[in-house]
Amino acid sequence: MTHPTPAAASGPRAVRYRGRFAPSPSGPLHFGSLVAALGSYLDARAARGEWLLRIEDVDQPRSVAGAADDIRRTLEAFAFEWDGEVVVQSRRLDLYHAALVRLQLAGDVYPCACSRREVADSATLASVDGGLVYPGTCRTGVPEGRAARAWRMRVPDGDAARLAWIDRVQGAQTQDLAREVGDFILLRADGQFAYQLAVVVDDALQGVTDVVRGADLLASTPRQIWLQQRLGVAVPRYAHLPVATNAAGEKLSKQTLAAALDVNAGSGALAAALRFLGHAVPAEMASAPLAEFWPWAIAQWSMARVPALRGKIPD
Ligand code: GLU
Repeated sequence: MTHPTPAAASGPRAVRYRGRFAPSPSGPLHFGSLVAALGSYLDARAARGEWLLRIEDVDQPRSVAGAADDIRRTLEAFAFEWDGEVVVQSRRLDLYHAALVRLQLAGDVYPCACSRREVADSATLASVDGGLVYPGTCRTGVPEGRAARAWRMRVPDGDAARLAWIDRVQGAQTQDLAREVGDFILLRADGQFAYQLAVVVDDALQGVTDVVRGADLLASTPRQIWLQQRLGVAVPRYAHLPVATNAAGEKLSKQTLAAALDVNAGSGALAAALRFLGHAVPAEMASAPLAEFWPWAIAQWSMARVPALRGKIPD
């Protein structure tokens, strides 16, 4: 006889669709964030599912005071409606710690003494993130006389390192975790949990069935699937939306000085984001009251129309 786990019994998996929008409060929302919010929201609502809002401030040094409130106010101004309480990662550190302990007990993580400089001096392979593949220096133990600074997740070797999944927008994907990523950090030298761990713990505990987000995170997905497998939690479906770029072809972000959304832009800005996601929007909808725009947009939504490629922000 099998016994349901408490999570299964209390039923997050019973929900057919639960999506989320998970902005990092590193600055105000911009057009690229609106695309991710809109795509995840419409996909959830069109499936009669739930949509959660999670503030990903686990990276405290990159979080900006007041940005989380500003994000909420902006979403409210566009009449996004989230289900349940807003989850804030900086209040959930004990949950990330518990997951790390599980991985420690299973031997999936190891302490690492290497500084960034040492990794840079000894690594030979470029990683998918534009960094370097960790050469495995501390895999078999921290060298004599050195102190551990961080905890790293072991990735599999050989054929097992090759992870494959089907992305709803980007299609069939594969990544070799050993050659393209390497053992990755879960607890940083500055004591902060890594995004990869926090996002996996939260998606699992919140019962998220569908991750819809920007394709800038496509290369992170195999790390997250690997963590899900090792933690024994469900792997959600993934849809990575095209990334909005500026005239110079750079991803919109705080670093590339993307303009903050105008909270009064209403259905005009939503229409631009929906067009960016491959949907035709008649002019009257782009100026309709939000109460009219939303039901119309939910009825129109089809992930099949969303283009895979990145695109320039509309003028
Ligand atoms: N917090 C991440 C970001 O703002 C998104 C994480 C996710 O959707 O998985 O880029």
